Formats: sequence, structure tokens, C-alpha cells
Amino acid sequence: MAPLRAPLEIEFDYTRSLGPVLSRFMTALADRRILGARGADGRVHAPPFEYDPVSAEPPGELIEVGPGGTVVSWSWMPEPLAGQPLAAPFAWALIRLDGADTAMLHAVDAGSAAAMRTGLRVRPRWSATRTGSIRDIACFEPAEGRGGRAVAEAPDEGAPAEVTAGMTITPVRLHYMHTASPGESSYLRGLAEHRLLGQRCGVCGQVYIPPRGTCPADGVPTQEEVELPGSGTVTTFCVVNVGYPGQRVTPPYVAAAVLLDGADIAFQHLVLGCDPGEVRMGMRVRAVWGESGTISHFAPAGEPDAPYEDYARYL
Ligand SMILES: [Zn+2]
Repeated sequence: MAPLRAPLEIEFDYTRSLGPVLSRFMTALADRRILGARGADGRVHAPPFEYDPVSAEPPGELIEVGPGGTVVSWSWMPEPLAGQPLAAPFAWALIRLDGADTAMLHAVDAGSAAAMRTGLRVRPRWSATRTGSIRDIACFEPAEGRGGRAVAEAPDEGAPAEVTAGMTITPVRLHYMHTASPGESSYLRGLAEHRLLGQRCGVCGQVYIPPRGTCPADGVPTQEEVELPGSGTVTTFCVVNVGYPGQRVTPPYVAAAVLLDGADIAFQHLVLGCDPGEVRMGMRVRAVWGESGTISHFAPAGEPDAPYEDYARYL
């Protein structure tokens, strides 16, 4: 049977404090100025360093560089992705701004790959909106001519009354096709039928669920399929008290390592259906199936706790 494939989307915002140096760098961008920092060895870094790579000291006064610069290296982006600086094909380039000794990464709107070259003179195309972020530079463009593509100048909406950049949010979005291994594929097909399918190693006899296709102890393929019951024992657990965007269960709740009866490895799942304070090591639980053919969570089975010796070697 063919392995299963499915698209996976992972999306989150990475929020960080800019700190004193990059806050000044970003605030200056809103004023359409690009700042660098002179290091202890006399070299000018743009963007500015937060700590001197030679002396480890924070930079002193930041100095203005550019705005013109020279492409020192580049790579063509034939099919831009959502959220990138330009919707039309462009170049990612390392640009050494005039007055700087290091290069910064940005997009170059050259119109075509044929118009890109190392040594190309470029200048920033400023964004109409000024927010105190790297996006205040919409992109760079060839300083001489337009690289064969007419681009309208963005109208300037004027400098904002005050920009004090303190935080920056970097949206992260990953989109890819995941192909499950043959072992995982039968495990997933089993879930759709509310069956729990693991695999037993032919050498050591250990049962793995979800199956990985090989035994990590012996390094041999595992082929014997084993159906396990939906009952098991909590080996360890933690109470989740921290909320986050998109969370489906309201804290506090319990994430536990559940050792299914007959398995030799515990897997992570939720334990719901009782007060988090009642969950304990050795607690007997049973799978509660969700509507989509997956285990929604585990719930207390109402049986006496498993003796510690039964699960001690799986901790
Ligand atoms: Zn083995």
C-alpha cells in the first residue's frame, strides 16, 4: 500500500525585543536613514552589531551609511513566496552599503536575472509607509536604469510623528508535503478504523507505537504488526498552565506519557476528564476517540493504579 502524504502548515509569529542598538537602526529607517556601527578594528558594520565581534563591547555612536550600495553576492528568486518583499521575481542580495565594510541582506528588484550581477550599484526604494522596521526599505533597485522594468515611485506618506521601535514580529510560515513511512502509514490507516497498530522487533521483541520502521536498539527493520488495546498507564506527566494563541484546551490541563498495554515505548497525549490534580504516575487510562479517526485524549479508566514496577523501566 502506498505511503500516505499530506500537506503540513506550520505558522507562528516570532516576537523579539530589538534591544537598544537595533531599535536605533529601525527608528532611523523610519527617517529614511541607514545606520551602521564602527567596530574596534575600524570596520563599519551595517546593519550595526549589538556587540563588537572583536572587543565584545556595545557600539558607540551609530553612523549613517549608504543609501547607495554594491551587490556583493545574490541569488535569484523565480517564484516569490507569500510574505516576501516583492510579488514579482527578484534577487536576494548581499549589499555592501557605501561607507560600510559588511553586507546586509535585502531584496533587489532588477526585473530579470539577466539584469543582476555582482558589482551592480543599487539604491533603496523606500516604502510609502514608515513603521520603523526593515520593511521601511521596500527593496533595493538598480541605481542606473530600471533593469528593464518600470516601477512607480511609492508616494511618501511623510515621517510619522514618532517611531520608537522596541519590538519586532517575524511571521514564520512553513508549508511542506509530509510523506509518512510505510510503518507510520499503516499506523495512521489503523487510527481511521480506531485501531492502534504498532510493530514488534524480531530481534529484541520490543513493541513500538507509533512504529518507526526500525528498532533503535538493534538497527533492524521492524515488520511484524501488533494491534494494541486503547488502555494504558500514565508513566510521567506535566500540568500545562501556560496559554498560547490557538490553544484548543483551556489550561490547566495534563500532557502525559502514556504506555499502552503491550507497548515498550510511551507516547505523548492529553489526559482529560478529571481534575489535573488527580492525575498521577501509574494512573490507568483509556483512549477516547475523536470524530476524525484520531484519539481525542485519554481519560481515567477507573481501575486501580498500576504498580510502580510495571512501568519503572519505561521512565
Ligand atoms: Zn530490537
